[in-house]
Amino acid sequence: MNVAPDESLHPKIGITFATLVNMPKGKAIIFSAPSGAGKTTLVRHIVGMEDFNLSFSVSATSRQKREHEIEGTDYHFISVAEFKQKVVAEEFLEWQEVYKDQFYGTLKSEIEKIWVSGRNVIFDVDVVGGINLKKIIGGKALAIFLQPPSIEALQLRLRNRSTETTEKIAMRIAKAKNELTFSNQFDVIIVNDVLAVAQEETEKKIREFLKFE
Ligand code: ADP
Ligand code: 5GP
Repeated sequence: MNVAPDESLHPKIGITFATLVNMPKGKAIIFSAPSGAGKTTLVRHIVGMEDFNLSFSVSATSRQKREHEIEGTDYHFISVAEFKQKVVAEEFLEWQEVYKDQFYGTLKSEIEKIWVSGRNVIFDVDVVGGINLKKIIGGKALAIFLQPPSIEALQLRLRNRSTETTEKIAMRIAKAKNELTFSNQFDVIIVNDVLAVAQEETEKKIREFLKFE
């Protein structure tokens, strides 16, 4: 499992991550789903709700930047070699080779920055990454699984998004079938059929979770 040990020394501030997780302030919302289910769309909407006080954890990835994406906002785009250096330097809280040669990882420095500033953190990670983050962060995290209405709908969304080749879409769909079997390991399952309904349900669940100290 690609999870940094709880007691690993935090690279920037020299405290253990277990200490950081035990800080009195700061909660986490974890969003996971098969690719194309609508995570990015939902996360953007939720980050825009100011009363949630949420900041997006910008992951590092070795995949190619898409045309509309912004370095440092959507991802930190780095090479495979740089990614592997960060793994060795224990800069990730978790990381995955989500697709062959496409690495993605949650940087400890992102969470530190967000929690120290007094805000809550929101993650958009793959299904295994989501389960791992929930294990690490525990009760301070709400893990949400976003479910597509069907595999056919997922395929159509990926095709319409036009960001991946036909071959890459097939790879993502094959992985999605397996990912759907993990939904019961999350705190909440939201079906993203009609977007407005999914947005409303997600807002409600997050509002309930953030209410409690
Ligand atoms: P992910 O981040 O999970 O890969 P995206 O948010 O990029 O997914 O959504 C994939 C595509 O599906 C996008 O083109 C998005 O506009 C579209 N989409 C998202 N939610 C819905 C929905 N409820 N109905 C139809 N299309 C949707
Ligand atoms: P995409 O290439 O479509 O942006 O993302 C592909 C998958 O990688 C998505 O499921 C996304 O949630 C996931 N992902 C993005 N960042 C991370 C991360 O830091 N860790 C893990 N485990 N998955 C991530």
